[in-house]
Amino acid sequence: PRDRAAMAEAAAASRPPADVDTDDCLREYRHLFSPDLLAGQVAFITGGGSGIGFRIAEIFMRHGCRTVIASRNLQRVSEASKKLVAATGQQCLPVSMDVRQPQAIVAAVDEVLNKFKRIDILVNGAAGNFLCPASALSFNAFKTVIDIDTIGTFNTSKVLFEKYFRDHGGVIVNITATLSYRGQALQVHAGSAKAAIDAMTRHLAVEWGPNNIRVNSLAPGPITGTEGYRRLGGKFAEEASHFDAIPLQRAGNKTEIAHSTLYLASPLSSYVTGTTLVVDGGSWLTSANNFPAMLGIASSSAK
Ligand code: NAP
Repeated sequence: PRDRAAMAEAAAASRPPADVDTDDCLREYRHLFSPDLLAGQVAFITGGGSGIGFRIAEIFMRHGCRTVIASRNLQRVSEASKKLVAATGQQCLPVSMDVRQPQAIVAAVDEVLNKFKRIDILVNGAAGNFLCPASALSFNAFKTVIDIDTIGTFNTSKVLFEKYFRDHGGVIVNITATLSYRGQALQVHAGSAKAAIDAMTRHLAVEWGPNNIRVNSLAPGPITGTEGYRRLGGKFAEEASHFDAIPLQRAGNKTEIAHSTLYLASPLSSYVTGTTLVVDGGSWLTSANNFPAMLGIASSSAK
């Protein structure tokens, strides 16, 4: 067996930054990018109260950005905002909003523009997912995932375009997934929803490029310390050593996703638009798409 610790020590370019598995800020942080990379900017992050979205907000704030974190549960975003402000010293506005309700998005964006006078970055992270075979998926369950992920991403992007980006430019990062690349079992709903977002990324990049708006997707692999990881069998895969099949032989962490999102949201990627950045350690290329094993996870996580 290879000595993983020694290898990780040697390979600085693939060494993961430290992370914490809960929805709390990092205990310590060493800047890799310039600390003022996003100085003076404002980012609107849907799903910013938990998991990957929370860490994106934290990392943006550690690079000089003010943030708005928006999701349905006001208590969740309010508590998250307190932690983010305490850890980074930046401003963070928590907003209660359902991405399925355009009027609620309009009201939220008006409130933000009133307070911060600008919005530079939109991260569409709001989503819902669970494991379910297509045959057991209700018509409504499929529709709900499309409504939140796909239509929610469109709704929020369109409101931001009309309220600010059309006249000032901006950058949009859509958090998608690799599920559809190989037709992941038990994921027809989320895979279809995210594939549609990747298409939307290209359409909007083309239409809105002349307005100086860049639009890209970021597709994470299995990411520890997230609801997605807990619900989609991350622990099971860990215990069954399934991550050995991933080229980088491990799951990713939230800070790694936040760093790649920071790249896409910043001038470091000033000529990048209409693309999907896959941040999965090479996972989708090699991981098993094992239907019976997935069914076992689905029935045990439903209990
Ligand atoms: P998470 O913590 O559950 O994040 C989802 C967020 O979306 C929550 O904060 C939730 O807050 C919000 N949300 C859900 N429905 C909403 C709605 N209708 N309107 C507004 N906000 C809504 O999960 P996560 O695992 O960190 O996932 C974050 C993103 O990464 C998702 O887009 C997910 O598909 C993607 N992703 C994750 C993984 C992974 O391994 N975790 C892998 C691939 C892709 P409220 O409940 O308060 O609304």
